[in-house]
Amino acid sequence: MHLEHDVDLQSCNTLALPARTRHFCRADSEATLVEALQWADVNRMPVMVLGGGSNVVIAADWPGLTLQMTIRGKRVLASDEADRPAATEADDSLGATVEAAGGENWHELVQWSLANGLYGLENLTLIPGTVGAAPVQNIGAYGVELSDMLQSVRGWSVAEQCFVTLRADECRLAYRDSIFKSALRDRFVITAVTLRLRRHDRPVVSYPALIEALQAARSAAGIATAAPITAEEVERTVRAVRTSKLPDPALCPNAGSFFKNPVVERQQFERLKAVWPDMPAYTTDGDGDRIKVPAAWLLDRAGWKGHRRGGVGVHDRQALVLVHRGGGDGRALLALAEEIRSDIERRFGLFLSLEPRVYGQPGAAAVA
Ligand code: FAD
Ligand code: NAP
Repeated sequence: MHLEHDVDLQSCNTLALPARTRHFCRADSEATLVEALQWADVNRMPVMVLGGGSNVVIAADWPGLTLQMTIRGKRVLASDEADRPAATEADDSLGATVEAAGGENWHELVQWSLANGLYGLENLTLIPGTVGAAPVQNIGAYGVELSDMLQSVRGWSVAEQCFVTLRADECRLAYRDSIFKSALRDRFVITAVTLRLRRHDRPVVSYPALIEALQAARSAAGIATAAPITAEEVERTVRAVRTSKLPDPALCPNAGSFFKNPVVERQQFERLKAVWPDMPAYTTDGDGDRIKVPAAWLLDRAGWKGHRRGGVGVHDRQALVLVHRGGGDGRALLALAEEIRSDIERRFGLFLSLEPRVYGQPGAAAVA
């Protein structure tokens, strides 16, 4: 285990917030992870686990150990063709189980799976961060969520002091949520995930913005609309849309969507719709009783898009993305987020929850 001391964390979070950590360690193996956690335990240090730092707000210097997950490796664990040699490409159930280590880069895993003829991750291309963080918020985009293919999660259980494998149904995956944000928050460090991917190339094309972008790309390339849509085409299109809409953290530091979309009961939505007839909405259950309202629309309508406040602000093209323009810090960013939150509550009566995890505020716990 290589411990570093008084380390700058600015390059370890995509918001590029300035903060230092008292101790820092890269966990590049399960053995190093255990050693580092035990060291922190003996020395009564709080532990902040980081992957790519793309979904965190580090609001102050960290008084304990920052553990950056860098365990690498990915492989096909089991393939149906091996067990069922007579199966054909047309068999919808044909697939493979893939295992990827927690420190693998998520986007690279997506590219690797497609290059190996394994489908299912294409809509989730270009999401920053690591494989180990993906189950934490059940990453999702363009009509697909990790829960659609997650099989299991392996990690260190702080309570049991051993490595444990959780089945996907034990991870309580929900909309940008999981057990790792509640009962197992700071109690479980993910070292690997297994995913069930498909061999048949029939991507999920249900998200309206994706359908629109695919149609536009096909028409520009002169591709017949009747030709089957491939996973590669979806990946390319999602990548193009994301690149055009979202700021690249390397150029404009951000943590993606800063707020989750609020979900309300139908009655409350009907009241809102009477006042704001153009308010968009999506049902989240079969009965249509729970309605999701895009937080980006609320912020945009309230005039926050492009807002600047010292070194921090709201992105010019995507109101849900708070940005660090330089010279700001976590406290300034959180103060702006709080002001936005109160404004949205006052205008619409809707409460916005933060999507990124905040560290360095009173009450922020840590692995112990
Ligand atoms: P970090 O930010 O390092 O950590 C996030 C949380 O997970 C922390 O609480 C951390 O302690 C915990 N954690 C990290 N690794 C582990 C581990 N191995 N074991 C246990 N806990 C761990 N999210 C989406 O869902 N969909 C999107 O489309 C999307 N687009 C984005 C676009 C941009 C430009 C950006 C900046 C972010 C976007 N995000 C999106 C958010 C973010 O990329 C994801 O949440 C991602 O999974 C975070 O990965 P990370 O490795 O950077 O996690
Ligand atoms: P968008 O397409 O402009 O849509 C705005 C919001 O409306 C999204 O948050 C999306 O919810 C919701 N929405 C749109 N069509 C929907 C449908 N048919 N059914 C259900 N919900 C629908 O959003 P965007 O900002 O460009 O992002 C595109 C996708 O990438 C979204 O899935 C978004 O979640 C994802 N993304 C996530 C982050 C992040 O940091 N979490 C950052 C960038 C992009 P959902 O968010 O539930 O999909």
